Amino acid sequence: MSVRPILRWPDPRLSQHCAPVASVTPEIETLADDMLDTMYAAPGRGLAAPQIGVLLRLFVMDATWKTGPRTPQVLINPDITARSETKVVTGEGCLSIPGVTMDIARPDWVEVAWTERDGTRQSGRFEGFAAVCVQHELDHLDGVVTFDRLSPEARQTAEFAYAEAVR
Ligand code: ZN
Repeated sequence: MSVRPILRWPDPRLSQHCAPVASVTPEIETLADDMLDTMYAAPGRGLAAPQIGVLLRLFVMDATWKTGPRTPQVLINPDITARSETKVVTGEGCLSIPGVTMDIARPDWVEVAWTERDGTRQSGRFEGFAAVCVQHELDHLDGVVTFDRLSPEARQTAEFAYAEAVR
C-alpha cells in the first residue's frame, strides 16, 4: 500500500483513452489499494487510474467519507447503462486540477455496471454526489477532464484561474 504522485493537467496522460482491464490480477488489486491510499491522502473522494499515470479503465471512490463513514469502492471496467434525463449543476473539483472548481451539468442519477475486485460483474444506481463522482471519474477513463465539459468562454476563465492557482 502506498501513496502515488497525482498527475496534474495538462499532463498528456490525462487526455488518453484508457484500455480495459483484462483480468483482476494481484497487480490490479495492489493498484486499487494504492489508488485508495492516494485518494484518501490527497484528500479526495474519487481517483481514476490515469491520474497516477496508469492508462487502465478503473477508478476508486468514496462519496461519504468526508462527512461520515468510509465506503471505499473500486470500479473496474465501468460502463454507464442508463442515465437520468434531468441534469443538475455541481461545482466539481479535480485532484489533477487543484485550486479550481467548475460548474458542470450532469444527469442527476446514473446506472452503472462494473467489475468488482473479486472479478464478478456488479451493477448499481448512483444518485446525488455519488452520481457526480462516478461520471467525473468515468470521464477520466475516456481522457476527458472538467475543462472539456465547459463552454469555450467558461473554459478560458477556468484555465486562467487554474494558472493563477498553481503559479
Ligand atoms: Zn478528476
